[in-house]
Amino acid sequence: MFVIFGTKIKRKTLATKREHCLGCVITTEHELVDTSKWLTLFLIPIVSYKNEFYIRCKACGRDDHVSESRSRSFKRNSKIMEK
Ligand SMILES: [Zn+2]
Repeated sequence: MFVIFGTKIKRKTLATKREHCLGCVITTEHELVDTSKWLTLFLIPIVSYKNEFYIRCKACGRDDHVSESRSRSFKRNSKIMEK
């Protein structure tokens, strides 16, 4: 018998908002992305061990890693994708 361990990354868009981008220097749509890393057993996610938030420019694709408190402030006054 053998056991297959692995990892999996799940990405979820939480909210969208128009902001000024430092990459393409225009005001455009940005999305808040929640990225969680999971340990898998036989390809089934079992335990989440790391959670990070990014704000991504939809025009140029620039990613900015943000703290959880910054992600909460982004959600305010933005279009929430899901709860
Ligand atoms: Zn941009």
